[in-house]
Amino acid sequence: MHRTPARRRAPLLAAALVVAIGLTACEPNTPTITPPVTAKATCTTTSTRSIVVAESIINSTRRLLAAAKADGLKLCGGGYRDSASQIAVRKANCGTTTYDIYEKPASQCTPPTARPGTSMHEKGLAIDFESCQTRSTACYRWLAEHAATYGFKNLPSEPWHWSTTGG
Ligand SMILES: [Zn+2]
Repeated sequence: MHRTPARRRAPLLAAALVVAIGLTACEPNTPTITPPVTAKATCTTTSTRSIVVAESIINSTRRLLAAAKADGLKLCGGGYRDSASQIAVRKANCGTTTYDIYEKPASQCTPPTARPGTSMHEKGLAIDFESCQTRSTACYRWLAEHAATYGFKNLPSEPWHWSTTGG
């Protein structure tokens, strides 16, 4: 018995469906991060500003700021960043196409900027310290000596970026 054209077409239709589903799934693949519970640590530059971090590191952040202040170094900076802010930073540093925002390697952005969903800032576990732009700043030198005591590690490519993992 001959195969009917209809039976022969069925696998093709199935294949086409798989392709269609695959294309639909080809939206930016952003890992979802559950936003952390955050708290504010008052900056030691001015009491009207604060650094927002995950609640899990608020005590160590406050202790670090207090220790720096006691040593004559005033610190402030940017900690927690929500997903929308991370996307805005990617647009500014990496470019504005979908590829630029979601796929381009962090190292190809200026300055390097983690893909949305992968930044320690989105977990509230990283701080970009102001006045810490180079390794010769008082800010960097103090942190290099003391930050580890409070659980912070530096990302070597960014003297200003300190996080619980160094990432
Ligand atoms: Zn950073």
